[in-house]
Amino acid sequence: MYLHEFQAKGLLRNYGVPVPDGGVASTASDALRVAKELKGDAWVIKAQVHAGGRGKAGGVKVVKAFDQVYDEATRMLGMKIVTKQTGPEGKVVRRILIEKATQINQEIYLSFLVDRDSEQHMVIASSEGGVEIEEVARDNPAAVIKAQVNPVTGMGLFLGRKIAKAIGLDSSLLTRFADVANKLYQCFVDHDGMMLEINPLVVTSDGEIICLDAKMSVDDNALFRHPKIEEMKDYGELEPQEVRASIFDLSYVSMDGNIGCMVNGAGLAMATMDIIKFNGGEPANFLDVGGGADVNKVREAFKIILTDPKVKVIFVNIFGGIVRCDLIAQGVLKASEEVPSDRHIVVRLDGTNVQEGRRILEEGAAKSGLNIVTGDTMADAAEKAVQLAAADQPAKKRSAAKSA
Ligand code: ADP
Ligand code: MG
Repeated sequence: MYLHEFQAKGLLRNYGVPVPDGGVASTASDALRVAKELKGDAWVIKAQVHAGGRGKAGGVKVVKAFDQVYDEATRMLGMKIVTKQTGPEGKVVRRILIEKATQINQEIYLSFLVDRDSEQHMVIASSEGGVEIEEVARDNPAAVIKAQVNPVTGMGLFLGRKIAKAIGLDSSLLTRFADVANKLYQCFVDHDGMMLEINPLVVTSDGEIICLDAKMSVDDNALFRHPKIEEMKDYGELEPQEVRASIFDLSYVSMDGNIGCMVNGAGLAMATMDIIKFNGGEPANFLDVGGGADVNKVREAFKIILTDPKVKVIFVNIFGGIVRCDLIAQGVLKASEEVPSDRHIVVRLDGTNVQEGRRILEEGAAKSGLNIVTGDTMADAAEKAVQLAAADQPAKKRSAAKSA
C-alpha cells in the first residue's frame, strides 16, 4: 500500500525526522489558511498523488505571496498530473500539501528497500538527489552507493556515517546524516515498509538536514499489525477494480495485457501467467480468488475482470481443492448475468465437483449464450485463450444469442 507524502511525513515526524512544517488542504481557501498559520514569506504547494516526478509535471510550486498560494492551489486542485509513474491517463489532484519553503544548499538521495536477494534491507544513497535515481544510475553509476542492513542488528550510526562519507558529504554533517538515516530506517522497519524514498533529502543553508519529499509503501500483508496505516488507504488513488477487490478481500493486481485470469491460489495464478506468456500472450491481471471462496466472492472476482476494458478473453483456471468447481461455475454465471459481455471465456476446471461444475456452465452457457470454450488441460486452455486474444475477434453478440 502506498502512502501519500503528507502521510509518510506525519509518520517520520513522530520519529524525530526533520520534515518541513506543513498542512494539507482540499480547497484553495483551506490552502490559504494553512499558509497563514505557517507564517513565513515563501511556501511550497505540492500535489498529493501516488506518483513521483510531480515537480516536472507542474505538481510542485514555490510561491512567495498569499494570493499566489490561493491561485496556485486553485490551479492545482482538480488538475490531472501525468508523470512517468501515473501512465498516460494521469492522476487527479484532490489534495495539496502546503509547506514552508526551505533554502536548499544540497540535494541528496536516500532510500530504503527490502532486498529479496540478500534477504536484508538495502539502503541506497547518492549525492545527486532531486533527480530520478534511475537516471543517476545510468549516467553516473559510481555516484550511487548501496549497502545492506541486517534487520536483526539494525542500522545504527556507524553505517550512516560510512554512507555519508561515501557520498562525499561534508565531515561536519556526518553525525547529523547518520542520525536522520537511522531514524528513517527505524520508521521504515516499524511499519513493515517495502520502500521509503527521500528524494531529495536536503542540506539547508543553515546546515540542517531535512526530508523534503517522502515516498513510502508498506507491506499489505502486514497491515493487520498497523490499523492506523490501513485507515490511510486512499481509495481515490486505486483503479475501480482494485477498490472492489480490496472490499471482497481478493488478491488482485492489474497488468497491461488483454487476457483476464481468474485463478485460485497464488501458485496457480503465477503458473497461469507463465503459461500465457509461454504461448505468446499477455495477462491483464493477477487475480486469486483464494482457497475458501464462496459464490459471492467468485461472482465479484469475475465481475472485476468483466469490467476491465483491456480484457479481450477471460481465462478461468481453477483447480478445485477446497473451493468446489460447482461454486465457481455458479459464480461465473451470476456475474455474467449482471455484466453481460460478448467476450470469450476459456475454462479449465479440475478437481472437486468438476463434473457438476462443467454441467452447470454448459447449461448456463446454452441458456444465456455465453461464449464458453473449455480446455481439457491447463496447457490446452492457455493456448486457446492466447489464440482467441490474438484473433481479436469479438465472439457472437449475446443479445443475438439470447433472441435465437
Ligand atoms: P517529486 O519527486 O514528485 O517531483 P518533490 O517533493 O521531490 O516531488 O519536489 C520536487 C522538487 O521541489 C524538489 O527536488 C525540491 O527541489 C523542490 N521542493 C520540494 N519541497 C520543497 C520545499 N519544502 N522547499 C523548497 N523546495 C522544495
Ligand atoms: Mg522527489
